[in-house]
Amino acid sequence: MDFELPEEYAAITDTVRRIVEAEIKPVIGAYETSGEFPYPVIRKMGDAGLFGATFPESLGGTDAGFFAITAISEEFSRLTPEFGYAMNQQAMTCPFTIFNWGSDAQIERFVPDLIAGRAIGMFALTEPGGGSDAAGAMKTTARRHGDIYRLNGSKQWITFANACDTGLLFAKTDPAAGHAGITAFVVEPKRGRGYRAHPIAMSGLSNCLRSCAVFLEDFEVPVENRLGAEGEGFKIAMNALEYGRLTVAARLTGLAQACLEHSVTYSKERLIRGKPLGEYQMIQQLIADMAVNIPAARALTWRAAWTMETGRPSSRAAAQAKYFAGNAARHAAQAMADIYAGYALADEYPVKKIAAYVNMLTVGEGTPNVQRILLAEDALGIKDTDRHPVRNRARGHLSR
Ligand SMILES: Cc1cc2nc3c(=O)[nH]c(=O)nc-3n(C[C@H](O)[C@H](O)[C@H](O)COP(=O)(O)OP(=O)(O)OC[C@H]3O[C@@H](n4cnc5c(N)ncnc54)[C@H](O)[C@@H]3O)c2cc1C
Repeated sequence: MDFELPEEYAAITDTVRRIVEAEIKPVIGAYETSGEFPYPVIRKMGDAGLFGATFPESLGGTDAGFFAITAISEEFSRLTPEFGYAMNQQAMTCPFTIFNWGSDAQIERFVPDLIAGRAIGMFALTEPGGGSDAAGAMKTTARRHGDIYRLNGSKQWITFANACDTGLLFAKTDPAAGHAGITAFVVEPKRGRGYRAHPIAMSGLSNCLRSCAVFLEDFEVPVENRLGAEGEGFKIAMNALEYGRLTVAARLTGLAQACLEHSVTYSKERLIRGKPLGEYQMIQQLIADMAVNIPAARALTWRAAWTMETGRPSSRAAAQAKYFAGNAARHAAQAMADIYAGYALADEYPVKKIAAYVNMLTVGEGTPNVQRILLAEDALGIKDTDRHPVRNRARGHLSR
């Protein structure tokens, strides 16, 4: 008997399956061909409550909690990794960070539209100089002129930046102050001038849900859109990544699960020397490792969700889950490719696409080395990963 989701979460994953069957599968091919951003699909996901799990009903959320967002993220990624991409922009790193750190006016103005899918979100931290040292590499500046800030610089790999209505963007208000000089802004690219976003060509990933290079030239942001105080941006970004790692771990688990399911089906169908592949012990070893790694990744991910659900410090648990799920998914993607062998390269099979999303998610929200550094320094007593006070408005913790 496997670890089972409580009934309410099983119902949520049924909703994900229904949306994928009814709203995504019939149209995804056309969007992939045209490259058009699938606004109506994101809207339907929002209407179904799939982005609102960690938000109160007063903002249009479902208040279903962190276990629910975990279940939704895993199932989306298992079935359609392209749309799993939306979980952080529409449900977690973008709106949850505004909810967590924003004023009442900012929360009311921005969060309901994001979680309903009426506004497209983004989280713009990484710059061309390197994502692993986001603070050190940050060259983008924000200079205050009366009631506005003027932003100049560039960002790299920013998901949905070409479609964004309401995003979070980090820039230096005091470049000499290192990470203490970073400030967070809620930006509205469609309202201002001086913002350009160009999708980056990446074969394997979606052609309609893209990540972009962003260029800012005197891009104006009103002072009322600053999130938190000047200089609080790095703390806000790190807190956002902690919650983002939960959905990334869940999405990696979903991808690994997809690898196992495809591998099992293929191993039963493919006959070599008159026997199904699955009867060969070396193939069975690949499948056995997947069959153990995946529930272990899921258990760590649910443990991270539990720390958030109960308002505990969650940085360590989220890093552990993200790191382990990344390893499990990488192993599963390679095992699936070994089982499919030559057919892994054929476009008619999902092997290449899943591998591309595994690579993307393993890197996003902190590479494996970044997680190793966090976890090793924690274990060695150099730096407690859970040293920061809990900031989790969904559970009433508002320490700075
Ligand atoms: C498809 C895609 C979508 C993305 N979406 C977003 C987004 O929406 N918003 C956003 O802000 N970012 C986004 N990212 C950026 C992502 O977070 C970065 O790619 C990631 O943080 C790594 O940065 P980098 O690629 O610049 O690698 P680098 O920082 O250049 O690192 C290169 C290698 O060096 C290793 N390394 C770095 N420092 C150390 C060290 N001290 N010790 C040992 N090894 C080290 C890294 O682990 C890595 O293996 C996205 C990336 C991709 C590919």
